Amino acid sequence: MTYKLACADVGVTCPFVAEGKTMDEMMEVAIKHVKAEHGYTDEQINDPETQKEIKAAVKKE
Ligand SMILES: [Zn+2]
Repeated sequence: MTYKLACADVGVTCPFVAEGKTMDEMMEVAIKHVKAEHGYTDEQINDPETQKEIKAAVKKE
């Protein structure tokens, strides 16, 4: 199974899709990307509303 999270699905105009074999692996890739490319802070990422959005946008394939 592959976990996927597309930037576009969390409201960011960006073609990036984070992928990983586990939720943790995928989140690590996604967090590294949004910090580097979109200027997100840990505070923003750990915000309960953001976490809810992220979890709703994750796809399992
Ligand atoms: Zn992005």
